[in-house]
Amino acid sequence: MNEEFYQKLIEHISDGIYYVDLSKKITFWNKAAERITGYTKQEVMDARCSDNMLRHIDEMGRELCISGCPLSKTIKDGQIRTMDVYLHHKDGHRVPVTVRAAPIPDKDGKTVGVVETFSDNSRRIDIIQELSKLRKEAFADPLTGIGNRRFAEITIKNKIQELQSFYLPFGILFVDIDHFKQCNDTYGHNTGDRVLIMVAKTMSNVLRHLDFVARWGGEEFVVILTNINKDVLGRVAERIRVFIERSWLMVENQKLTVTVSIGGTMAIEKDSIDSLIERADSQMYSSKNSGRNRVSLAS
Ligand code: GH3
Ligand code: MG
Ligand code: MG
Repeated sequence: MNEEFYQKLIEHISDGIYYVDLSKKITFWNKAAERITGYTKQEVMDARCSDNMLRHIDEMGRELCISGCPLSKTIKDGQIRTMDVYLHHKDGHRVPVTVRAAPIPDKDGKTVGVVETFSDNSRRIDIIQELSKLRKEAFADPLTGIGNRRFAEITIKNKIQELQSFYLPFGILFVDIDHFKQCNDTYGHNTGDRVLIMVAKTMSNVLRHLDFVARWGGEEFVVILTNINKDVLGRVAERIRVFIERSWLMVENQKLTVTVSIGGTMAIEKDSIDSLIERADSQMYSSKNSGRNRVSLAS
């Protein structure tokens, strides 16, 4: 590899890199250094580090240029050092960076300068990720990964508004696992959890992607189906019932299956969340009372 290759490599590496000589005059400044600090090569070349445009400060706000400059220390003792500091950006704000100062030796091993590399630790991107993670956490059921009750309530509220404003029909299903307590008692809570996950995933896989399923609580789920009529509502409910009946978990070499009782209803214009859920829930109880593992729809 020739020298030009290394020049290019250093020029285009994602970390900021600059060299200073023994008088702390800047003699090299790469592209990433420009990007991270806002200062161009022209602005900093031959400037002295102690004029210090960058004015690194530590977490306590102490100016490192005055005391504790890592470059000076490295010039003195030839040791490599790493520090988390905040540099001054040309636009005024502080940029968190991790700096590493390493001595540049000449042929005889004598220190003739220091190279400082610094990487941008700016957490902007992390914060965005954190926010969407929080949003996910706020609306997802941690066990099953489907929507939680809050998600169901907000979705139903929106659907009611759409129904009132644009006559977009929708219906809901209330789904309750049959004899789930017995399942917990026989196989243990962990297996019970696996059953909940199985049921939740089966339901969400049966649905079109405009439909929603959420865990209402314990072993109860709500399905929200848009743009349908009562016939379709009944057919989807039946499909959910059959799919769950035919799903199984292997527990101690045995197939464990569960069934669900389902109650369904179409929404009407004067519905509230409560009136709608109550109607579906009471149909679910009819299914329980007439033998479980079945679907009942409000007329
Ligand atoms: P039914 O057919 O009448 O619905 O009977 P059931 O046993 O399903 O009804 P019940 O409401 O008596 O029992 C619900 C059980 O669900 C009781 C509770 O311990 C269990 N449960 C609620 N949340 C969880 C959970 O997160 N994990 C597990 N494993 N069990 C749960
Ligand atoms: Mg229940
Ligand atoms: Mg139950």
